[in-house]
Amino acid sequence: MTSSFSNLSLAEPLARAVAEMGYESMTPIQAQAIPVVLTGQDVMGAAQTGTGKTAAFSLPLLQRLLKHESSSTSPARHPVRALVLLPTRELADQVAQQIALYAKYTKLRSTVVFGGMDMKPQTLELKKGVEVLVATPGRLLDHIEAKNAVLNQVEYVVLDEADRMLDIGFLPDLQRILSYLPPQRTTLLFSATFSPEIKRLASSYLQNPVTIEVARPNETASTVEQRFYSANDDDKRRAIHQVLKTRGIKQAFIFVNSKLGCGRLARSLENEGLRTAALHGDKSQDERLKALEAFKKGEVDLLVCTDVAARGLDIKDVPAVFNFDVPFNAEDYVHRIGRTGRAGASGLAVTLVSGSDARLVADIEKLIKKKLEIEAIEYPEDQPRGRINDGRRAWREAGETGDTRDAARERRESRGPREPREGRELREPREFRGFRPAAPSRDPFFEKPYEPSAAEAAPAWEAATKAPVRGSLSANIKPKRKVAALFKAATA
Ligand code: AMP
Repeated sequence: MTSSFSNLSLAEPLARAVAEMGYESMTPIQAQAIPVVLTGQDVMGAAQTGTGKTAAFSLPLLQRLLKHESSSTSPARHPVRALVLLPTRELADQVAQQIALYAKYTKLRSTVVFGGMDMKPQTLELKKGVEVLVATPGRLLDHIEAKNAVLNQVEYVVLDEADRMLDIGFLPDLQRILSYLPPQRTTLLFSATFSPEIKRLASSYLQNPVTIEVARPNETASTVEQRFYSANDDDKRRAIHQVLKTRGIKQAFIFVNSKLGCGRLARSLENEGLRTAALHGDKSQDERLKALEAFKKGEVDLLVCTDVAARGLDIKDVPAVFNFDVPFNAEDYVHRIGRTGRAGASGLAVTLVSGSDARLVADIEKLIKKKLEIEAIEYPEDQPRGRINDGRRAWREAGETGDTRDAARERRESRGPREPREGRELREPREFRGFRPAAPSRDPFFEKPYEPSAAEAAPAWEAATKAPVRGSLSANIKPKRKVAALFKAATA
C-alpha cells in the first residue's frame, strides 16, 4: 500500500523538494520506513536499489537534522551529523545526488567522498563542514586518518547495500568506522538480503531494530518472467538471437562471468549484426560512459556486462536480461534479473544453462525457493545447428567469404587461456578479508533510468540488411586483440 507524502507532515523545505521531484505517493519502503525513522529508532530494512529506499531513509533523517540548520559559515557549526556508507562510488554518488536534491531548500550541507578521485577537493568540502556525509568505507578511513573528517557528533549512520559491503570485504573497515561514532546514535541498515552475516552485523551494531521488509529476502520480482533454456556453449548466441526475435525484444543486458568472455561475446554478437557494447571492470570511464550513452540513446541493442561492472548500474526497466553464463554466486542471479521488470513493468530474464551448470542452477533454486524448469529452445526448421544468425547469413548472401574460418578461429580462441573470472577475489572465500578491490570509475550515467529509445526503429535482428561489412566493427567494439595479449593484460 502506498500513501501520500502529505500524511507525513514533512517540513516545508523537504515537502517542496519532494513535490518538485514529482513523486505522487510513497513507495512501500517509504511508507513503512519514514514514520519509524522519524521516531529515531534503529531500522533493519530489506530493500534493493530502485525501491525508493534513499528517500525512505534520507527524508526523515533530514527532517530530524533540521534543528541543526545553521547559516553560519563557520565549519564548527556544520559538524557531520549523519553518515551514509555505501559499497561503490557509483552508488555513493547516486545517493549523494538524491540527498542533495531532497535537502536543496534547507541549510543542511551534504557531500560525498569515494576512492579513485583526488583527495584535495573532497578535503576542501569536508573542511568547510557538512551535516550529511555520504562515503565509501575505504576513502572515509583515509579522510579520518588525515583528520579531514571528525565523526564524534554523528547522530545517524546508514549502512546501505550492507550485503554488498560485506561481500566486498568491507567488514573490518566498517567496524573501524563505527568505533569512531558515538554509541548514542540511530543506525539504519539496508540490505537486499538478510544473510546470516547481515544478521550478525545487525546484532552487533543495531539496538532493538524495527525490521522492515518490502519483499521477502531473495525474492525475485513477480513481474519478471524467468526462463531457463538448455544451450551448450556453441549454441548460446544462437539462442539469444532466437529469443530476441521470437519475443520482439529490442534491447537487453547480457551478463557474463568474465571480462574476457564479455569482450569476446560483444565482438561476436556485433559481427552477427547486433549493435553491441561491452561493459566490464577494465573499461575506462570514457568507454563506459560511451557504452551507456549509446545504449540509452538506442544506438546499441545489447549491453554485455560483468557483475562487477553492472554493480550500481541504475538503469531500470530494461526489457530483458540474459544470463549468458549462469552466475557463480546465486545472489548475483537476483541482482542481475532485478534489472528488468522493475517498478511494475514486466520483464524477461533468460538464463542459458549448459551441462556443467547443474550445481549453480541448484544454488539459485535454493536461494529463490522456486523449482526451476529447464526448457529446450525451438529453432526454425530452416536454421541448422551452428548457423546462428540472420546477420551472418545476409553477409554471406551478399557475397562475403571466409566466415567459416572466422568461426573456427572464434571457437579456438574461446577455448583459449582461462582468464581469472571478474569479481572472484571479491567473494572467495566469503570470510571477511578486509582488502579493498579497485572500485570502478565514477560514472554519472549509472544514475540515469533506462528509457527506451525514442526512435522506433526495427531491432537490428529484424533488419537482415544491417549486417556489418566484414572487418568494420561499430564504434562501441574494439578490434579483437591477440589472445596472448589479452591474457597478459588480464594477469597484469
Ligand atoms: P532508490 O531506490 O532510492 O535508488 O530510488 C530509485 C528511483 O526512484 C530514484 O530515481 C528516485 O528518484 C525514485 N523515487 C524515489 N521515491 C519515489 C516515489 N515516491 N515516487 C516516484 N519515484 C520515486
